[in-house]
Amino acid sequence: MKTKNLIATTLGFAVLAGAAALAQTKPEDTEVWTPTPPKVAPAKDAGGAPSDAVVLFDGRGLDQWVASQDKSPAGWTVADGVIIVNKARGNIETKRSFRDYQLHLEWRIPADIAGAGQARGNSGVFLASTGPRDQGYEVQILDSYENATYVNGQAGSVYKQHPPLANASRAPGQWQTYDIIWRAPVFGADGALAKPATVTVIHNGVLVQDNAVLAGETVYIGKPTYKAHGPAPIKLQAHGDPSAPISFRNIWVRELAPRP
Ligand code: MG
Repeated sequence: MKTKNLIATTLGFAVLAGAAALAQTKPEDTEVWTPTPPKVAPAKDAGGAPSDAVVLFDGRGLDQWVASQDKSPAGWTVADGVIIVNKARGNIETKRSFRDYQLHLEWRIPADIAGAGQARGNSGVFLASTGPRDQGYEVQILDSYENATYVNGQAGSVYKQHPPLANASRAPGQWQTYDIIWRAPVFGADGALAKPATVTVIHNGVLVQDNAVLAGETVYIGKPTYKAHGPAPIKLQAHGDPSAPISFRNIWVRELAPRP
């Protein structure tokens, strides 16, 4: 009799607990209203930038850029709203430094491009420049429309680290877009790597790097390694190959809050 009562009482509590749980499953229980995301006005047209972007080139001049070599005014050519690489003047980089960001840029291989492999429209965007030459983390720019080379060196690759997931290249003469999400590496106070860099790249609307984890800075020969650095400029490459120089336009960046 006592046991029966206990079972009955236990069952009663279980029913009550179940009812209480049901009472907490209103749709409102899982709605979050604050904090509200900041308002960002999207670009008015395809070539524009969102309202909170730092515009790095809008067709008018290179005032946001300097020569990587000596920080003198960037010596690349601006004509008809477009930047044309001047290989003799070396790499250029942003005056400002960035940590984590979303970057948009557009580039065009000349219609009459000649050459083969890595010597055919080679440039690149270094997501954090750590020196005046090719130090940093390079997303490759190259004519990869019909141009065989090592796959971890074609357009959309993280140079010598990650081949692109697809070849989304347009033919020479057409404008191409990169939309890049860069999460810089995090270093401890002792300079040791705490969190590697990651990058997502969308090439002409096609995902080519999906949160790829970097093993270190880009190197031409040997294995990549990390060395500690803070916020850094974004750098564009003046590659030494003899093919005709490529062009850039519509470059903007949105700084992102650090990863939690
Ligand atoms: Mg390159």
